[in-house]
Formats: sequence, structure tokens, C-alpha cells
Amino acid sequence: MLKRILIANRGEIAARIIRSCLEMNIETVAVFSAADRGALFTTLATQAVCIGAAPTGASYLNQDAILEAARLTGADAIHPGFGFLSENADFARRVQEAGLTWIGPTPEVIEQLGDKNTAKRIMREHLVPCVPGSDGLLNSPEEAIKLAEEAGYPVLLKATAGGGGKGMREVAGPDELPEAYASAAAEAKAAFGNGDLYLEKLIVNPRHIEVQILGDEQGHIVHLGTRDCTLQRNHQKLVEEAPAIYLAKTDRMRLEQAAVKAAEAVGYSNAGTVEFVVSGSDFYFIEMNTRIQVEHPVTEMLTGVNIVREQIRIASGMPLDFSQDEVQFLGHAIECRINAEDPTHGFNPSPGTIENLLLPSGFGVRVDSVLHQGYQVSPFYDSMIAKIIVHGRSRNEAIARMRRVLAETVIDGVKTTMPLDYMLMYNADYIANRIDTGFIGRNLDLLLRPWGDSPTL
Ligand code: ADP
Repeated sequence: MLKRILIANRGEIAARIIRSCLEMNIETVAVFSAADRGALFTTLATQAVCIGAAPTGASYLNQDAILEAARLTGADAIHPGFGFLSENADFARRVQEAGLTWIGPTPEVIEQLGDKNTAKRIMREHLVPCVPGSDGLLNSPEEAIKLAEEAGYPVLLKATAGGGGKGMREVAGPDELPEAYASAAAEAKAAFGNGDLYLEKLIVNPRHIEVQILGDEQGHIVHLGTRDCTLQRNHQKLVEEAPAIYLAKTDRMRLEQAAVKAAEAVGYSNAGTVEFVVSGSDFYFIEMNTRIQVEHPVTEMLTGVNIVREQIRIASGMPLDFSQDEVQFLGHAIECRINAEDPTHGFNPSPGTIENLLLPSGFGVRVDSVLHQGYQVSPFYDSMIAKIIVHGRSRNEAIARMRRVLAETVIDGVKTTMPLDYMLMYNADYIANRIDTGFIGRNLDLLLRPWGDSPTL
């Protein structure tokens, strides 16, 4: 079993990982930037090492500094969390070459799945349904126009190295294509150092449904059910729930089986998520994320499985100690992300100091956050500052609980997405589960208006 894990991350996910290590009697090393000195995740850890200045390139993306911190502290493993270096195959390889355990899938698998075009090719070969589109990378706008005609407009240009909605453009017709091609390629090149694009048919008004996977190094793969992450703004998730009850039970089972097949196709180990867009009861693979996801707590609330514990056990070489049949799914869970952003101004980041703070508690509530009064929300990092997760016996019970919990919560000093989260919990279409990935974008004005409607549950 691993003895001392370095967490190459910050904020709530670093704290969340450290807490599980403590429960497993594993020592932890936090690494932090100058902007995070004294932060909760650093004080929870057994020891903490400053690895550089606030900009991510100097600290949380500074591979040399992180590896040096691991060497100095005698860590035997690195957990990358999500974002930062979590899907960087070169870093995973360097961790292993330094004689440390990488808590994640193998660098080869990260590489295969990180290139979305390669991932889709593998999935097609294994008969996992994929969105129709180009067979491979595009060579020119002219080729894209030809393929778009075959697939039928509207189409989506996507960056093979893409993430977080970057390098993605919707195209309604051939006139728009050359310009969209140039701007998507330029954006992807700037963000990921790789401007290669592929083309997909745009699935109109889809849902985003994903499946949590766990695989051990002995070749056992189980799924922990579905999550519905349809509520997005700018192609980024805001509210997630589990299970995805929009799908009938039999369709959900088909999706779970497709996800297990996808994981088997690459010999997947550790925690991962297979993402699909869903239209009606048809589903299409879009990508597989080779790390723990922001929204993993809804799955944990539903199944009682601690995903970080499983990641650590798997990386230690231990087989899963439960079978698929032993995974239980109880009730319904919802997560609201609280981002320091201004929803009334294009979700612009809103850094600043937390002045007043009251985080919720009570039956069926989990809060993953490192906030405290006086906390500085840094402009250097992701704007997500807290996750509030509730569990109920039914979706309606979970919604009622989330209403209560958000009403109780006070976060003053920065603008947040909380008012939007709150209004969603009272929105008639959300309550009836009549939503798609464009729902927030189309209804933002209504959602931001105080008390549009307030249906009882
Ligand atoms: P990223 O890694 O940049 O987040 P994804 O491939 O995961 O990119 O897509 C992000 C979101 O974009 C999805 O959740 C979905 O809302 C939308 N999307 C992606 N592909 C399609 C598609 N072919 N049709 C419709 N929507 C899509």
C-alpha cells in the first residue's frame, strides 16, 4: 500500500483527496503556489511545500518543481486531481520514470484517449456508437465542406486536443465554414499547442450523459452508473445529477454497457469517465476523461463508493474489492457548482475576498470547498470555489433539499453562479427534466430574473 502521496493540485479537490488519504492512514504532501500559502488544503496535509509563484506555469504546471518536491519529501506516489497535469501523458511518464506511482491510467492510455480523434477511432473499431463525422483529422476547409455536406449541417468543428469547450465551433452552412475552421484551429493551437481539427455532426439540443468507470490492474472493470451533466453554460457544466433518470432504465443499462466496452477497448485502469451526447434514446460517444471528474461526488452520494479510495487502492496494485452486482444505487444526488463568476456579464471571472460566509449543512448535504471568511479568490486559477451536493430518496426530494441548502448559503464579496443555481431549482422545465445542453444559454434572462416562477414540488 502507498505510504505518502503528493497531491499535484490545489483547492477543494486537493482537500478532498487529502481527506481520503487521512482516512486510509496515508501521509500526504501538499504542494502550493505563493498565492495559496496557508490555504486549507495545505494545513490538512501532513506536510506542505511551496513550489513557485502564483502563475500556473511557475507552480501547478511546473513539472520539475513538483517532481523535486516529491523527491525531497520522500513521496511514493502522485495524485494529479483534475485539470492541471492530470491528463498530461508526459508528466505521468516522468512520474513513473522517477520511480513513483502515478495515480491514474497508464501514460499510453492517457495519450490514446487524450487525442479525441484517436479515441473515436478506437471506439468505432469496438462498435461503441460515435457521432457521425470525419473518419480522421481534417486537412483543409475544403475537405471539411465536403464531409459536412455528407453528414448534413449543422456540424461541429472540434479540436483533437480540445478541452473545456475550447477549439469548438458550430457551423450552420458552407459559407461559415472557412472562417470557423481558421478560428477553431487558431484557438486550439494557442490553448493546446495543436490546431488539428475533426468534424462531427452537431446533435441538436442533446443531453450530456456520462458513465463513471473503475478498472483495476487485474483487468476488472465496473461502472458506477450514469451522471446527467446537461445543464451547461458555454459548453461547461454547472449542475450535475445522478443517476440520469431522463433515460429509461433499459437505455441507461445499454449506455452503461457501452461505457464498459469503451473502457475494455483500451484496457483501462483506475477511475475514468466515458462521455456521451444523447438525443432521444440514441447516444453517441464523444470522449473519455482519464481522471477523476469535478462532478464525482454525485456518484459517491448515490453508490457510497469513495472514488478516491478506489483510485489509491488500484494504483497500489490491489484488485477491486467489490463486483458489479455489489454496486448499489440509492436515491438521487444533485451537485451545484459555485463559481466566482458574474452570470449577468457573460460568466466573467469575479476574483476578490470572501467577506461573509455561511456554508450549509444538515441531512443529505455535502460541501466540497476550501472557503473561509477572508479567503482570496485568486485571478490565477479556475473560478470554481465550492461544490454543494445533496442526496434525496427521489429527484424531487433532492431538488427540495438543494433549494433549502442554497437559501441557507451565504458567500459575499465576489459574484457567484449561486443565484443561477438557485433559480434553476425553481424552474418548471428543470423540475420536469425537459432540458438540453443549450437550456441555460437560451433561458438566461428568465433564469436571472428574480422569481420568474416558483412551482411547488
Ligand atoms: P471538451 O473536452 O472541450 O469539454 P467535449 O467533446 O466534451 O469537449 O464537448 C463538450 C460539450 O459540447 C458536450 O458536453 C456537449 O454539450 C457539446 N458537444 C460536443 N460534441 C457535440 C456534438 N457532436 N453535438 C452536440 N453537442 C456536442
